[in-house]
Amino acid sequence: MLTVKSFTFNPIQENTYIVYNQNRKAVIFDPGCFFEEEKNLLKQFIEENKLVPIQLINTHCHLDHVFGNKFIHDTYGLELYIHPKEQMMLEYAPISGQQYGLSFENYKGNIHFLKEEDKIEIEEEELTILFTPGHSPGHLSFYNRKANFAIVGDVLFYESIGRTDLPGGDYDTLISSIEQKLYTLPNNTKVFSGHGPTTTIGYEKDNNPFF
Ligand SMILES: [Zn+2]
Repeated sequence: MLTVKSFTFNPIQENTYIVYNQNRKAVIFDPGCFFEEEKNLLKQFIEENKLVPIQLINTHCHLDHVFGNKFIHDTYGLELYIHPKEQMMLEYAPISGQQYGLSFENYKGNIHFLKEEDKIEIEEEELTILFTPGHSPGHLSFYNRKANFAIVGDVLFYESIGRTDLPGGDYDTLISSIEQKLYTLPNNTKVFSGHGPTTTIGYEKDNNPFF
């Protein structure tokens, strides 16, 4: 069974997730660690739990989700996995960082592309990939049936949805991503968002003001 550990990092208060199995193999989603102490906190958790990081994935490449890509690459030798439509966003992230007063060094290693047909495997465990654009053009979400959770980045939040005013964003596309890809998951699916608290699909169907 997979376990999910979350951290909230950087001045934009982004949620970073580590998903790992009983053999301590771990996938790191959206490492938003910006400050040294945040990087140390992530590293300390990995060390204390004897985790072996095996993959680095960004749900999408807005700056607050990619700050720590380089740190993860330098520390664990992992290369980055993203949807092809996020590559431009990744290249733009440091420029956006300067505008926010949050300058950072971008990841410069190899980029591997993920498509909806691919699967993320942590030994015998599996995460299904959902293509969920609208907040960002190549935004991916990740669903694990057995442990009953989804990592949804900035698509769906507790009683809210991702903003659509950033480059490549589109409101109608976001709404249809949520309706077709997320609201079709079981109601008791735990939702791990890129910002804010954890929620469930059923709770959002009943309480999200955008629907
Ligand atoms: Zn975002």
